[in-house]
Amino acid sequence: MEAHTTSAAVLDELRRRPADRRRILFTGATVVTMDPGLGVIDGGDVLVEGDTITAVGRDLDAGDAVAVDATGTILTPGFVDTHRHAWETQLRRIMPDVDDLGGYVMATLASYATVYRPEDMYTGTRLAALTAIDSGITTLLDFSHNSRTREHSDAAIEALRDTGIRGVHASMGPHFGDWDRQWPGDLTRIKDQYFSSDDQLLTLRLATLATDEIAGPALTYGTGPARVAADLGIAVSVDAVFGASSSEAVLRWAEDGILSPDVTLIHATGLTPEAWKAMGETGTTVALAPTSDAQIGLETAIPAVDEALSAGIRPGLSIDVEVALASDMFSQMRALHAIQRMRAVNAAYGTDEQPSRITTHDVLDFATLQGARTNGLSGVTGSLTPGKKADLLVIEAEALNNMPLNDPIGTIVLGSDARNISAVLIDGEPRKWDGRVLDVDLTALRAQVHASREYVLNTPAA
Ligand SMILES: [Zn+2]
Repeated sequence: MEAHTTSAAVLDELRRRPADRRRILFTGATVVTMDPGLGVIDGGDVLVEGDTITAVGRDLDAGDAVAVDATGTILTPGFVDTHRHAWETQLRRIMPDVDDLGGYVMATLASYATVYRPEDMYTGTRLAALTAIDSGITTLLDFSHNSRTREHSDAAIEALRDTGIRGVHASMGPHFGDWDRQWPGDLTRIKDQYFSSDDQLLTLRLATLATDEIAGPALTYGTGPARVAADLGIAVSVDAVFGASSSEAVLRWAEDGILSPDVTLIHATGLTPEAWKAMGETGTTVALAPTSDAQIGLETAIPAVDEALSAGIRPGLSIDVEVALASDMFSQMRALHAIQRMRAVNAAYGTDEQPSRITTHDVLDFATLQGARTNGLSGVTGSLTPGKKADLLVIEAEALNNMPLNDPIGTIVLGSDARNISAVLIDGEPRKWDGRVLDVDLTALRAQVHASREYVLNTPAA
């Protein structure tokens, strides 16, 4: 059969076949592969078989595949979020003009977090993941730092699982209040129970803080947590928001041999050149959070993109918290693109120097391929490369706000938003189709979100 991308008939046809025997051929699209070897293919085809991309090119012959006419669209890999605190999502925009990190910490981690029940973890995390899918984020690293009991962890993991997103559960204990002190010991059980296969949508990481200023030594990265992660065979995400003390910590970790590509530093604002050098030399990955750095004002308030690139590190991007920030990757790409170019031109202003400016291709690379690398999933997702899992977006290039299509990467980064994403596949499975997230009862979800919000906001902090 032949039908346009968004037609309901195509979805019906796909869902009639067992997932592992499905074959979908998208035809005639502008394919922005983000694979350095494949580039952009005009009038291109993408073949998806089961959960995998098996061919990318022109005039592919795919026999009995369900053919989807993707003319007038851009096919691109799904975005990869390298750090978000998904449990806080029912607290969306409660503090849009928060003054600083302290204001955020006292209002959320030191108060609302302490009254969260497992069902609140579930509701917030599920809402974050569904919204991510709607806006084209197919991989979400959930820095889940409110694991007060085993049940809190279970709820966060099950919420990711139930949405069908490619989820990375990064587990950390809470900063404040009473909790079971089951973390990180409980990670052994969590791994056995939820992460037994190497070929599944969900992966596990250890989440820690760079320094002990906010929560004391129990949650701080060092040789102890590094050993826990190594014993479990998992990677580590480290939240690094204090420049001076984080820099000292980075140098200590380098000396201790616990920096590697399996360690991600988040934020990394205000770090010293020596710390960046140590990170570059060890292949440490970096998750920038452009809007939280700039808007909340973390340390220098400047997303450390120039510093990362100078150290030879191409960073991933992240959303961080929805209590104060936008939910989608378009906002991150645009903020970073504008901020870095402003910074470069400003530094060169009045001199003869040529400002070194990043491009729309750079930020899309950060939001896809580099995000996948940062999350330890470079062989799995982040580009439309044969052999990778089929995590892809169909973007309407001839919509009111995108026509006429002149530059596909510019159109994705500067022109598009969630409304232009007509379809999202994750692991070959349609999760958004015809402009709607599938398999969600919005009325029931809304009731859950409101009930949880009321409970959390009206219960005195423990
Ligand atoms: Zn964070």
